[in-house]
Amino acid sequence: MMHEQDLLIAGCTFACGLAFGMAFAMNKTMEQRAAVASAPAGQVVPVNKPVAQGGDGFSRPGWTMAEARDQADEGQKAAFALAPKQVLEALQRGNVRFWTGTATRPEKSAFERRALINKQFPSTAILSCADSRVPTEIVFDQHLGDMFVVRCAGNAVTETTMGSLQYSVNHLKVKVLVVMGHEGCGAVKAAGLPEDALRGEPKELCNCLMSLKGGLDFNRLKNIEDTRAHDREAVISNVKQQVMALTQDPSIMKKVDAKELMIVGSFYEISSGIVDFFFEVSGSEDLPARGVDSLFNPKTRMERQASGEEKPMAKAAVPAFQGQTRVVQQRR
Ligand SMILES: [Zn+2]
Repeated sequence: MMHEQDLLIAGCTFACGLAFGMAFAMNKTMEQRAAVASAPAGQVVPVNKPVAQGGDGFSRPGWTMAEARDQADEGQKAAFALAPKQVLEALQRGNVRFWTGTATRPEKSAFERRALINKQFPSTAILSCADSRVPTEIVFDQHLGDMFVVRCAGNAVTETTMGSLQYSVNHLKVKVLVVMGHEGCGAVKAAGLPEDALRGEPKELCNCLMSLKGGLDFNRLKNIEDTRAHDREAVISNVKQQVMALTQDPSIMKKVDAKELMIVGSFYEISSGIVDFFFEVSGSEDLPARGVDSLFNPKTRMERQASGEEKPMAKAAVPAFQGQTRVVQQRR
């Protein structure tokens, strides 16, 4: 137990530490400024970087806004030149760095962040769970600006998440669209509860869980006795459903068929840190996918739209993301 005297000592230590820390920081800042101001240019100015004149009269290494824009343009050009497979490989390599304890924990410098303000050009969009244990950039050891992240409970395709992902595909031109479920997903587990139990939740949460319930293959799940295997199968079943829901969108499938985009389903194992990619859609020929029968043939629908028989995002597609409607029928 901590006594009053201990508290006083602890408080004093904290206050002294704080004061020392502030003084140290101030000294450090002044030292740094003095060093920047007095050191020969070759020591403080990175190669090909100009010296910017600050409002306080000190010269610092850095980029002008024009150079930051050039930097962003170069980055975007390099990102657009990548093939979907290359982007997926980079994600896999990043995940290996993460789970082997060799993550680079990339943080950009102040100058690189300045370049980021001009535009974003992520190569990956990911639909992942809101679970606090699934921080996507950390899991894939990715840099600032690398991933367009959409997260919600149960990584579900809803009107909102679909809209965000459509933006990433059609405007940011991401190369890989990942749907990632995870070990121990409470949302998917809750979706397996009886409907009466879900009805006791607030309306929006109930709708969210009922929507996930629609994607679970209970006939298959009831035969799996091992709890861990059961939960994994439920999550994988849900990921497949969400991938198939994405394939309903003509703008996404147009990119997939042009080989400019790949959709992948994955499973993140919290306990090991490993992401297992188990499901890939690289063209309409991949559909219907293994283990899932789709009621929807993207190629046929696109052909219908091309001939004017059906309007894009017509009634048949939009209500599918509004909660209860199952977009894919499970194989019995
Ligand atoms: Zn989850």
